[in-house]
Amino acid sequence: MHTIASLRAAYRDGSLTPEQAVKALADSISKTDPEIGAYLDYDLDSALEEAAKADINKPLGGVPIALKDNLNVKGQPCTCASKFLEGAYISPYDATVVTRLKEAGAIILGRLNMDEFAMGSATENSALQQTKNPHDTSRIVGGSSGGSAASVASGTAIASLGSDTGGSIRQPASHCGVVGFKPSYGRVSRYGLIAFASSLDQIGPLTQTVEDAALVLNAIGGHDPLDSTSVDIPMEDFTANLEKGVAGLKIGIPKEYLSDAISPSVRETIDRAAQVLKAAGAELVDMSLPHTEYAVATYYIIAPAEASSNLSRFDGIRYGNRAEEATGIEDLNCRSREAGFGPEVQRRIILGTYVLSGGYYDAYYGRAQKVRSLIKKDFAEAFENVDVILTPTTPSVARKHGEHSDNPLTEYLADSFTIAANLAGICGISVPAGHEEIDGKKLPIGAQLIGPSMGEAKLLQVANALEKALS
Ligand code: GLN
Repeated sequence: MHTIASLRAAYRDGSLTPEQAVKALADSISKTDPEIGAYLDYDLDSALEEAAKADINKPLGGVPIALKDNLNVKGQPCTCASKFLEGAYISPYDATVVTRLKEAGAIILGRLNMDEFAMGSATENSALQQTKNPHDTSRIVGGSSGGSAASVASGTAIASLGSDTGGSIRQPASHCGVVGFKPSYGRVSRYGLIAFASSLDQIGPLTQTVEDAALVLNAIGGHDPLDSTSVDIPMEDFTANLEKGVAGLKIGIPKEYLSDAISPSVRETIDRAAQVLKAAGAELVDMSLPHTEYAVATYYIIAPAEASSNLSRFDGIRYGNRAEEATGIEDLNCRSREAGFGPEVQRRIILGTYVLSGGYYDAYYGRAQKVRSLIKKDFAEAFENVDVILTPTTPSVARKHGEHSDNPLTEYLADSFTIAANLAGICGISVPAGHEEIDGKKLPIGAQLIGPSMGEAKLLQVANALEKALS
């Protein structure tokens, strides 16, 4: 399948047109997606219309891109894979990332499945459909941007966008063998992303190559007056440094991320990635991020707290499906939320409301904010000594469907290695780095690289070197 870069080259030398590319993708969606279930919907007619008038000289001219279904596209439904919004909401505006993709010439292809309101690590919390791992359909794709990862991995999207609050781009990318890139907090505007936890959410690309991830960031990144948390610094060309290699760079290996909690295959993969970077001229530095062990606990206070507030707008009046037979406004509210939200979303709202409630606020939320500062400080100090940090993306390969479904805590640990980057607001990327063979199926394993806030250029440079050295 074409990458963004090879597609652009094919358009320029005339061997392919955007209409042919869209038709080829539509073919592969109709062949593959009934089994994989990555797409909630796609609009072939409007994609073909856009393809017919695509300007291939633009940076993403004629490149079809699919979107996680928590990004607003004017005139289209946006469900967050929730019954609450299904059939009850049409986006009245474009998210800034959508505006920017369109300005760069991209064609918006379709809407992808996800965990309901982005809460989950397997896409099994989608209230609308199941998504299966293209490498072994008895296994999960990861989440919450599971459709975004599965579409790229199964050849039904050239590239997609996802959102990452605690790992939701990087973790499914690792499970599906694609590149998943979470930019620094504030690098990409969140305007038009349906908020989960506003201080943690970031939008980013899932692609086949690191170069493609850089090309997408070039299009979607940069300051946006519509998002007051977007950082007002000049944009760079993130493809400029890709080929500079790693000679002389310091790669930190934090001991807390290589504990006994990871599977042998993941350990071997990360050891090999480190050796490959060393052979390419990098210096490996053993280091420690001592507060990492509190990251999951901290996240599961802060993220539900913010979610309980963000999701209060879904009340059956302002937004969402309205329960019938209600006896008053409060009853309407309760019934609509009970019928509309799935069990995990309800659990998060209850958790979040609890940690914010009078008498508990200081003990939970206030304390979590303090620990968050310590986690952030760990990274700030680490980046005084190293350029980029290398860790596993996930503790093990994708699990089977249905495992953990009775134990949310086990599931929460799936994000042990990705969550800290969100709490610290820094950037991270998962690059395919190996696999484990189980029952004759090759299950992908990703290596995570983490960089400082606004350090995307160097992060992508190292990621590209790793990708090239492993290929
Ligand atoms: N799995 C984590 C959660 O359930 C992270 C989700 C995300 O990054 N959106 O909250």
